[in-house]
Amino acid sequence: MSRIYNFSAGPSVLPEEVLKTAASEMLEYRDSGMSVMEMSHRSKVYISIFEDAMHKLREVMNIPETYHVLFLQGGASTQFSMIPMNLMVKNGRADYVVTGSWAEKACKEGGRFGEARIAASSKDVNFSRIPKQNELDLDPKADYLHICENNTIFGTAFPYIPEAGNVPLVADFSSCILSKPVDVSRYGLIYAGAQKNMGPAGLTVVIVREDLVGKTQERTPTMLDYMTHVKADSMYNTPPTYGAYILGLVLDWIIGLGGVEAMAKINREKASLLYDYLDESTLFTCPVEKGDRSLMNITFVTGKEDLDAKFVADAKKQGFENLKGHRSVGGMRASIYNAMPTAGVKALVEFMREFERNN
Ligand SMILES: *Cc1c(COP(=O)(O)O)cnc(C)c1O
Repeated sequence: MSRIYNFSAGPSVLPEEVLKTAASEMLEYRDSGMSVMEMSHRSKVYISIFEDAMHKLREVMNIPETYHVLFLQGGASTQFSMIPMNLMVKNGRADYVVTGSWAEKACKEGGRFGEARIAASSKDVNFSRIPKQNELDLDPKADYLHICENNTIFGTAFPYIPEAGNVPLVADFSSCILSKPVDVSRYGLIYAGAQKNMGPAGLTVVIVREDLVGKTQERTPTMLDYMTHVKADSMYNTPPTYGAYILGLVLDWIIGLGGVEAMAKINREKASLLYDYLDESTLFTCPVEKGDRSLMNITFVTGKEDLDAKFVADAKKQGFENLKGHRSVGGMRASIYNAMPTAGVKALVEFMREFERNN
């Protein structure tokens, strides 16, 4: 067996420990006589797996009692419409900070349900920076302000939490959840697809302040009303059972490392290895403004398309997979989520130094 260093943006690398535990429990979970995948979601043994994952998520993220935690399906993309359906119900308008493709998609979807205003955008500089607080043109009557906390494709992240007064802040945390401590109380709603930093694709986590739920219109489909899932403890229908189980194992792994504070320290060190090299390199450059750089997705270019392609091909031969940038931006991107070991980033930097010497 040879596991390579996988820099995929998502689905992405998982902790080896988690995969090993899952493998050892594949045929029989504890003494249940079956795999977690084969269990009824209503069984006692499964409900304890599910509740345990939810409880641990609350603990690790320090989620206040006044927030609901929901385990749903449909990915972050379904949240792009579920959010306006449930929250854009008072004044029928919301503000969006457009910092990349995902934020743009969320905004477009919001526009199907009311007025989705662009409060700020960095499109003019190809999303290489995050608009500052004083650049946000905020509507005090907005039903919410939506941001994308970490821009997976462009490699930027919010270095601050936008202040919007009484307007609830809604944030897409798909590519940075569990990577750092978060003051959940500053947000009205946080959502994330699991496949970047939490587990396999198929599970979507929504953390929503109690008072924001239950105000949707009568015609809202049952499955798209947060209240349905609140009332049923995320078991209205079959939940993503295996995904929740893996999330529980990932949370055990994070707790074992010392929680999200420890995780954040490791993530800062890992990202610095790569950014420090990029800043001194005469071949590679990082197109993102320094203060707005993501710790999870690191983008870089040589400035020449054919050399970028050669780099990606050479890297692949050496066991560094998925370094090609998103098809919409080109260049390279190294996604170094929680589960990417420091050794993987060190090895990548070494390889880049060698490539620079030879090219
Ligand atoms: C991957 C990603 C999405 C899309 O997630 P799906 O689960 O595929 O719908 C949305 N937002 C961000 C920030 C992402 O990284």
